[in-house]
Amino acid sequence: MDIRKLTDNLSVAPQIFAHELETVQLAGFKSLICNRPDGEGNDQPNFSELEAAAAARGMAMRYLPAVSRKVTDAEGAQFGALLAELPSPVLAFCRTGMRSTTMWALSQAGQQPLPDILARATQAGYDLKGVVRRLVHGGKTPVDTADATHEVVIVGGGSAGIAAAASLLARSPGLDIAIIEPADTHDYQPGWTLVGAGVFDAPSTARSMASVLPQGVHWIKAAVAALEPEHNAVVLEGCRVVKYKQLIVCPMAGGAGADAKYDGYGSCPLTVERGKIVLAEGTDGGKLAPRFPQWLIDGTQPSALAWYLKERVLPPLYGQAMLKGREWLARPEMVG
Ligand SMILES: Cc1cc2nc3c(=O)[nH]c(=O)nc-3n(C[C@H](O)[C@H](O)[C@H](O)COP(=O)(O)OP(=O)(O)OC[C@H]3O[C@@H](n4cnc5c(N)ncnc54)[C@H](O)[C@@H]3O)c2cc1C
Repeated sequence: MDIRKLTDNLSVAPQIFAHELETVQLAGFKSLICNRPDGEGNDQPNFSELEAAAAARGMAMRYLPAVSRKVTDAEGAQFGALLAELPSPVLAFCRTGMRSTTMWALSQAGQQPLPDILARATQAGYDLKGVVRRLVHGGKTPVDTADATHEVVIVGGGSAGIAAAASLLARSPGLDIAIIEPADTHDYQPGWTLVGAGVFDAPSTARSMASVLPQGVHWIKAAVAALEPEHNAVVLEGCRVVKYKQLIVCPMAGGAGADAKYDGYGSCPLTVERGKIVLAEGTDGGKLAPRFPQWLIDGTQPSALAWYLKERVLPPLYGQAMLKGREWLARPEMVG
């Protein structure tokens, strides 16, 4: 166990395990804060297990999970509130102790001099340069000044983000669009089904991000840490601020709250045997919505034609049509 002291009331550590709680208690700690989300790593006990083990020793424990490198201002404030509430000294932990240290620093911004905060973190072995700007502003990311501004900002360069950018450019060539996407590669996820079936190899389903981004789109290679819709701004990891007129958020499949719906191709081909697939086409709500006439492909039965589509037709259609903004299989319409 690698416990590092930040103040007399707070120390931080990498992941704690139930069998270490005795040592933690003997070291004088009265309470714990877990800043690591359950299920982040396969080496990690769940919060509830640790909480029960801590309770059996009469120690208080709280769960304030944060995503690695995306600690928010609000989480910093909540951490401060927990420190005020819990019996001290407190031991906070995450995977390495960095998130706990960041939250502490955010909670202290404006309360103690910045050099003191940074010095304590450095002494404990944590480099806070990524959040200095927030610390200078009292634990809050300043969103009044932008590091970049674009007409349209799209969060996520997956299928949805790239197709949306390409569709917009097809309608308005020259539109100022930025895609914020941290990954180097873009995956053709539907191809993974056939990786599992041994037909494609995994590397063939990945393309470099630069090669699939539509021409003219600005690529901001970073992850979004926070959305600030009231300021028309997103905050990136490392606290850079990007402003926009229109925001499209697609960091993964699904999403609610949009005022337009995209009734595009939606299918989940089920590989039931080599050479045959069930082409289960449906809408977002899971309703069957076959696009092919039943006499050609019965979407409820395995067929060799569906396999052929999946293996030969849909991959190029994805790359050459969908990601290029051709809405051959789509009917965007306004709702609400
Ligand atoms: C095995 C498998 C088989 C599938 N088969 C089919 C099929 O046959 N037919 C079909 O229609 N669909 C299929 N799907 C579903 C389809 O792949 C998804 O619906 C589609 O990829 C979702 O696109 P998306 O852009 O919403 O999300 P993704 O393609 O997952 O893209 C999200 C992007 O957002 C980025 N991101 C995440 N967080 C942030 C952040 N904080 N800041 C910036 N960027 C961020 C990610 O890096 C990622 O690049 C399949 C999926 C899988 C996994």
